[in-house]
Amino acid sequence: MQNLTVLLEEVEKPHNLSAILRSCDAVGALEAHAISKKNIVPTFNSTAQGSQKWVKLNNYDNIHVAISNLKDKGFRLYGTNLETSSRDYRECDFCGPTAFVLGAEKWGLSREASSLVDEAIYIPMKGMVQSLNVSVATAILLFEAFRQRDSAGVIPKNGEGLSVKLYRDRLFEWAYPEVAKWCRKIQRPYPGLNDKGEILEDLPRNLKMRY
Ligand code: SAM
Repeated sequence: MQNLTVLLEEVEKPHNLSAILRSCDAVGALEAHAISKKNIVPTFNSTAQGSQKWVKLNNYDNIHVAISNLKDKGFRLYGTNLETSSRDYRECDFCGPTAFVLGAEKWGLSREASSLVDEAIYIPMKGMVQSLNVSVATAILLFEAFRQRDSAGVIPKNGEGLSVKLYRDRLFEWAYPEVAKWCRKIQRPYPGLNDKGEILEDLPRNLKMRY
């Protein structure tokens, strides 16, 4: 799904970033967005289970650029904010283009980010601890969007909403990772596939292929 995404503001811990990308992958969100602290490159650990290969993480230097980029693409931005004025996430409709904006592990969303989003939402809690782990909050929101879209029958089944090239490239990378790696290394396009998913070209015999 190209119309469901997350924007992470200074979420830094590798296990959180990894778990978030894994949840994005699980609901079929193809891209995520992050504003990282200066000179810090986001890193992942085994929690990601390789999902960073499938979910593209776009990095930005500042929140204004990130938010205006998403708004220009038609996303409605939901900022997570624990204040009482926020809306219960279960009352919102996430079937349209939706971007959840999540805050840093320690500080939450900055004032600046909060002032730029379209709507503030929160996940109601009953316990003694003030907040959820950021990756848990992200998963709850993404799966609520997934649930709503599933009920509305708008979850893509055959790459609807993706460009033909993106759909073909992803399919090829998933089906033939070794061949895809080789193609990228020698900078050639991926070969075409037939209806059965078989490669339509003769390739060097020593390439490992997954059937
Ligand atoms: N002290 C911080 C605050 O007041 O926001 C807590 C930050 S919390 C550990 C990290 C992020 O997880 C938050 O910025 C928010 O994105 C998300 N989060 C945690 N609990 C949440 C909840 N109940 N509802 C919505 N988002 C939540």
